[in-house]
Amino acid sequence: MKAVVKTERKRGAAFMDVPEPEFGKKDILVKVKAAAICGTDLHIYQWNKWAEEKINPPQIMGHEFAGEVVAVGKEVRRVKVGDFISAETHISCGHCYQCLTGHPEVCENLRILGVSRDGAFAEYIAIPEKIAWKNPENLPVEFAAIQEPLGNAVDTVLAEDVAGKTVAITGVGPIGLLAVGVARVSGATKIIVSDLSEYHLSIAKKMGADVVVNAAETNFKEVVMEETKGLGVDVGLEMSGSERAFNDLLSVMTPSGRVSLLGLFGNDSVSVPLNDNVIFKKLRIYGITGRRIFQTWEIVSRFLSSGRLDVSPVITHKFPLKDFEKGMELMEKKLSGKVILYP
Ligand SMILES: [Zn+2]
Ligand SMILES: [Zn+2]
Repeated sequence: MKAVVKTERKRGAAFMDVPEPEFGKKDILVKVKAAAICGTDLHIYQWNKWAEEKINPPQIMGHEFAGEVVAVGKEVRRVKVGDFISAETHISCGHCYQCLTGHPEVCENLRILGVSRDGAFAEYIAIPEKIAWKNPENLPVEFAAIQEPLGNAVDTVLAEDVAGKTVAITGVGPIGLLAVGVARVSGATKIIVSDLSEYHLSIAKKMGADVVVNAAETNFKEVVMEETKGLGVDVGLEMSGSERAFNDLLSVMTPSGRVSLLGLFGNDSVSVPLNDNVIFKKLRIYGITGRRIFQTWEIVSRFLSSGRLDVSPVITHKFPLKDFEKGMELMEKKLSGKVILYP
C-alpha cells in the first residue's frame, strides 16, 4: 500500500510503498477514507527538537483520520466490518493509577498513533478496537476525520461552562478556530480572538468570533478592556503557545475568571507575574491535554451530527495523499486551516 513515511532523522517524509499492516486478535483493520494534518505532523515533518526525542523512523505519519473497517481480530466485539469509524489517538494501558482512576488521557504508559507507532497517512491502518469511535453513517468523512482536534477544542472551551460569558482566545490556528465555533454554540456572549495571521483571523470571523485582533498591529489588552467595559473577560483560552500572548491573556482576565491552556510553549519556562495576574485575581487555570475518553467524543459527535456546529470554514484544503507536502507547506506558512488528505 501507499503511505507517507518518516524515513530519516531530518526534514521531510517519503510517499512510498509499504506492506499492509498486520493486526492482532484485539485489533481492527481500517481502510482510511480521509486523514487530516495536525500541528504534530508538521513538527515531525520539520523534524524539530520534540520530534527528534519522540520519533523513531521509519514510521508512517498521521493520526487524525476516518475510514471503514475492513477486517477485525478474533476477540473484537464492539466493532464490525463495514463500520464507519474515527479513532482516539491516545492508547492507554488500562492498569496504571491514572487509567484506574478514570483519567486514561494522562496514562503513564500512553502510546500515540503516528507518534509512538504507525499512523494513518496510508491506505490502511491497524488499531486496537478499544480506541475506535463509531460515526453516524451520514457524517461527512472530512468532519469525521477532524474529531480528534475538535475534542481538544471542546475540552479547552468546556473545562467550565461558557454560557452567557465573555471569552478571549489567544491563537486561532486550526484548534483555536474550532474552539471559536464550540464557544459560539455553547452560549458565549462575546468572543474576542487574537492571532498574527490575517488568514486565521478571517476564518475566526466565519466561525463566530465577534472581535478579531491582529496582535502584531493592535493592542489586545486595550481592545478587550473596551469590549468588556473595563471588566476583562470571564474565560481565557490560550491556544498559541506564545509567552507574550499568555501574558496578554492573563492581563485581560476578570478577577475570579477561568483560563484553559492548550497551546504548547516552545520554551517551557514561561515568565508570568503570578501575584498580580493570577493569585490576587483568584484565577482558575486548567492544563488541557488529549480528550476525555470517550465523554468528549460523545459531545463532539453530537455537536457535528446535530448540525449545531458547522466546522466547514476550518477545512480549507483537500489533497490526494501523494500531495501531502503541499499541505505541510501551507500549514508552515499559516495559510491553511485543517488540510484533508485522501489516500
Ligand atoms: Zn492531532
Ligand atoms: Zn495507564
